Amino acid sequence: MVSDQSANHYLVPMTKGEPIRRTKIVATLGPAWEREERMHALLDAGVDLIRVNASHGTPEIRETWIRRIQKIREERQSATAILVDLHGPRIRVGTLPEPITLSPGQVVHFVPEGTSEGSDIPTTYAQLAGDVVPGSRILLDDGLLAVDVTAVRGDRVEGRVRYGGVLKSNKGMNLPGATVSAPAVTEHDREEVARVVALGVEYLGVSFVRRPEDIQDLRRLIPATVRLIAKIEKDTALANIDGILESADAIMVARGDLGVELPFEQVPLVQKRLIKLANRHGKPVITATQMLESMITNPRPTRAEASDVANAILDGTDAVMLSAETAVGAYSLEAVLAMDRIAREVEAHRLRPTEGERRRWQIPAPHFARTKEGHTPSEDAIAVAVSAAADLLGAPVVVCFTSSGFTARTVSSYRPKVPILALTAEPETFHQLSLSWGVVPILMRHVKDYDPMWATARTEILARGMAREGSRVVVTCGVPIGIPGTTNLLKVETV
Ligand code: ATP
Ligand code: MG
Ligand code: MG
Repeated sequence: MVSDQSANHYLVPMTKGEPIRRTKIVATLGPAWEREERMHALLDAGVDLIRVNASHGTPEIRETWIRRIQKIREERQSATAILVDLHGPRIRVGTLPEPITLSPGQVVHFVPEGTSEGSDIPTTYAQLAGDVVPGSRILLDDGLLAVDVTAVRGDRVEGRVRYGGVLKSNKGMNLPGATVSAPAVTEHDREEVARVVALGVEYLGVSFVRRPEDIQDLRRLIPATVRLIAKIEKDTALANIDGILESADAIMVARGDLGVELPFEQVPLVQKRLIKLANRHGKPVITATQMLESMITNPRPTRAEASDVANAILDGTDAVMLSAETAVGAYSLEAVLAMDRIAREVEAHRLRPTEGERRRWQIPAPHFARTKEGHTPSEDAIAVAVSAAADLLGAPVVVCFTSSGFTARTVSSYRPKVPILALTAEPETFHQLSLSWGVVPILMRHVKDYDPMWATARTEILARGMAREGSRVVVTCGVPIGIPGTTNLLKVETV
């Protein structure tokens, strides 16, 4: 579609450079871009947050990678958060000498890792034989392959291949219907948490969350500055979603396992529901898995994949994620570029205000957060007013001064039509805000008063071409300065 950008009030304010992309891109690190030059190339292409999956590689490799990202983001002065995705109570295929091809009807044996011989398939789950019975189904690699259990002998599980294909080492296994007793954060995860928290990562991904307590338990082990992303990939999590959204700092719609735990046809509507709920709670949400899957081997996405990314953005996701596409794909750079293009195209059209919207004093969100007494909390009232004021004034940008990032996230959750320039003196917050929709994080020095803060913001706005001299912008912060959770001020400034 040809976009008539001249008519787009909200995309012209940039006096130089391209409009700012609001949707954030999360990319999984892997062999395909572990080298420094490749990392620079993918960051140049638009990666906002780097995911390191603790399920693959070794602690030593992950440490090298994390340090490398930290060095590179320092050089670039970019807001680039690091997310370490914990393994969780995940059952996996063990190490295979080489990938094996399973054909329908073939008889296979699953055995505990370390005891496999010949054509046995090793599994990391020693209790497998106790959790399945003849007739159970074992799904492999996000449900791509399936085996029907025919017999259990000791710790050996015999089965017949239902859906075949190539099975590689370390692929996930799912047992639909069986309750795996392991805690959400395993002993193995705790060691990983201690290691990566010491390295200074900003986000931890909590796999297979079932209850709010899974998040709360992990929270007790980590510093307050580390933020937790609940991966929603079980039906139990859906039943407890409000509590999980209150406990977690963000959620991920982890469609790979979700689509195995639930009938796959339920995933699209669950995705929409989760995104809406996360928006309401003012918590960022990442839509993940298979977004551009065919780009693992092809330089261009399928039309269905392009639509999937576009639809997640239209649903209101903060971020879209690439998994194997960037970790091991042959076209990792192209995958990031494709996501960037799709996001920009969708945003350009969705953000175009209609005549009606321009004239109306539109409160952007019909669903405010509520205090116990049933009132809207101050920071939500301010965030709504910021969006409305920006609209009325034709402000090309809104400015937030934030220490924990809370103000910026709240403003972001009401999806103002213009970029949110978030200035913070806290490096953790600076990087963490790379996940929030529409937020442009800026790291500034500590100051005690409003005037030097505004002076810094003004310099940044002009340097980035976000507004022209003389334009009005909306500023929000908490006074007194530097005390988190006190958003109480809205000010109109002239650049
Ligand atoms: P999860 O359940 O945590 O998503 P996953 O196995 O699906 O685990 P992803 O991070 O989604 O892993 O990546 C998809 C695929 O990309 C993996 O199955 C693996 O083949 C590959 N991959 C991801 N990270 C790495 C890595 N660090 N090294 C090698 N391969 C990787
Ligand atoms: Mg996955
Ligand atoms: Mg998973």
